[in-house]
Amino acid sequence: MARRKKIYEGKAKILYEGPEPGTIVQYFKDDATAFNAEKKDVIDGKGVLNNRLSEFFMTGLNTIGVPTHFIRRLNMREQLVRACEIVPLEVIVRNFAAGTMSKRLGIDEGTQLPRPIVEYCYKDDSLGDPLVTEEHIAAFGWASQQDMDDILSLALRVNDYLSGLMYGVGIRLVDFKIEVGRVYDGDFQRLVVADEISPDSCRLWDIESGQKLDKDVFRRDLGSLTDAYSEVARRLGVMPKMTTVAKPTLIN
Ligand code: 5GP
Repeated sequence: MARRKKIYEGKAKILYEGPEPGTIVQYFKDDATAFNAEKKDVIDGKGVLNNRLSEFFMTGLNTIGVPTHFIRRLNMREQLVRACEIVPLEVIVRNFAAGTMSKRLGIDEGTQLPRPIVEYCYKDDSLGDPLVTEEHIAAFGWASQQDMDDILSLALRVNDYLSGLMYGVGIRLVDFKIEVGRVYDGDFQRLVVADEISPDSCRLWDIESGQKLDKDVFRRDLGSLTDAYSEVARRLGVMPKMTTVAKPTLIN
């Protein structure tokens, strides 16, 4: 059997060369990390849930005309995506204060912001993904002004889509992070939503109880991460029959 070529292994995913030029297979691992990988664990079933949830969000975005890299899901843990040149920024959209914004600005977690606020972090694990301004982005050539206009518009459209979707199932979209990639169609370059959209990269709170249904459950030791992610999947009708991910029984 031919071995496929690994392109990159990150904290939560592995990328393999895809079956056709310009495609990549994105494999979702069960590894969970937080605080720049200072806290680590393996959470059974997380990769399966994130593969399904990211498929669900990306398919919805493609359907409403927000371009993404997603092509199709291949199996429980893998999806086929378009190869793209990742812009070295984490694009964060916040609707309510939480996490680093609350710490940095002294705003209580859960305070509604006057409008969605978009932040940019430079993607570099060794630096802890520092917050940067559009001045840094332009001066260091990470993205052009046209790219920044397109990135802002993509981020806000994703925010509207995800906020509405979540609101419909009783979940508040507090904030999220996306990554953006460049794809080339002939002479033209387009920006698309890349990487993944999952509870690993969003803050999701139950509207009634405030219960956290995202990676903060792991970051802050608040209980079972797979229970939280399964609850998001259940409410959205993704994997409705599976509450836990079946593992093969080992007989010896
Ligand atoms: P904060 O800046 O408050 O830590 O994060 C803001 C939002 O972006 C949260 O939803 C968080 O999950 C997401 N986020 C920020 N950095 C990362 C990252 O490096 N990886 C992932 N998966 N999500 C991130």
